[in-house]
Amino acid sequence: MDETIEILSGVRLINPLSDFDDIVDIAIDRHSVKWIRKASGSPSGLWLIPGLVDMHVHLRTPGYQDAETLETGLRAAIAGGVTSVGMMPNTTPALDSLTLTMEVAGRGNSLGLAEIEPIPCVTAGRRGEHCVDFEEFAESGITCFSDDGSPVESSTALSDAFQRIAAFNGVVIEHPEVTSLAAGGAVNLGLASTETESPGIPESAEYLDVKRCIDILRNSNNSARLHLTHLSSPESIRLAHQASLEGLRVTCDVTPHHLALNEGEVIARGPVAKMNPPLRSEESRKMLVGMVRDGMVSAVASDHAPHPACRKNLPLSSAAFGIIGLETLLPVTLSILGGEAGMYPMDIIRLLTTAPAEILSKEPPEIAPEKKLNMVLFDPEHRWTYSSTFSRSANSPFFGRKLTGKVLRVWFGRELYREGEFVFV
Ligand SMILES: [Zn+2]
Repeated sequence: MDETIEILSGVRLINPLSDFDDIVDIAIDRHSVKWIRKASGSPSGLWLIPGLVDMHVHLRTPGYQDAETLETGLRAAIAGGVTSVGMMPNTTPALDSLTLTMEVAGRGNSLGLAEIEPIPCVTAGRRGEHCVDFEEFAESGITCFSDDGSPVESSTALSDAFQRIAAFNGVVIEHPEVTSLAAGGAVNLGLASTETESPGIPESAEYLDVKRCIDILRNSNNSARLHLTHLSSPESIRLAHQASLEGLRVTCDVTPHHLALNEGEVIARGPVAKMNPPLRSEESRKMLVGMVRDGMVSAVASDHAPHPACRKNLPLSSAAFGIIGLETLLPVTLSILGGEAGMYPMDIIRLLTTAPAEILSKEPPEIAPEKKLNMVLFDPEHRWTYSSTFSRSANSPFFGRKLTGKVLRVWFGRELYREGEFVFV
């Protein structure tokens, strides 16, 4: 037999695109799957899943390379089993021109790690006033836009965006926030703001903007697409779901940390658990988990937001918002949605692969003969401590904690990662 062929025996292949979930033997060479057969021996206990699509990632380039570089961010992605990252544009300068966006994405993609899906700004400089040249981006195949870090403040600009992006099936990814209600806030308004004596951010600061965006969509071009990202309030998800039942093209995502943690985390641990939107009450967290189980949420995304220690080791009111999340995306999401919500692995993996790919209008990841290798070998039972990271930053409340489920190997075009190390064959 050709020496470059490797056989992975008795793996559970979970392939959402074909709805396939069974124990198989699979043969691969250096670049592609050769064949997939029913397992001849006993199950190995390991899963083989497509490379994850994380639609919300901050690579901090240009401008904040003290927090993350393209290389450290894309290595953290691969180590987490993420082979495709949605790159958010709140950099300095912001990614609002085709030239800059292509230059940064091109540099990242040339590293041969995870691939970048660029998500440039909706408005010039993310100032929320004048829209970018959507049509020019679309000609280069870029169809997803966001002012993430901020909402699209101007309703006129948002309306203009919806009118124009529908022509090429584009999508606006909104960071829903009424800035006047959230301004100055550090933690959830309620127990967290009382206990930490910090200014609070109410859930209404999120869901009132969700409502505004849906109203604008309905009244401008109701065939355009709106995606609401990192929702933390059950009322936001209810509004998004109601809009989709009405026939509007509205989708949404939640983060693993809003599913796994509540405001008690920021009370106990301070800035390492400070993020925007903030961790909410236990009641809201439980409702969020139930809404994912009930199919009201379209995708799970990490909102990977690296910061150096100097911007996190500060009083709660002045520390930066955000946590890293690429390397914990899969184990944390599986633990909560598989455990507490009792969801099937297939339905969870779909939220991390084909569902976000569809929102981003990209080809869905798939494990199939003659396809480019794009897959993750995962041990669902492995207990490990999250104690080192490939990110340049380490701001995660999961750091130092025991997690269940570990990425063992990752292939994207070729094998890239094996047992904690990068391999380039
Ligand atoms: Zn955001």
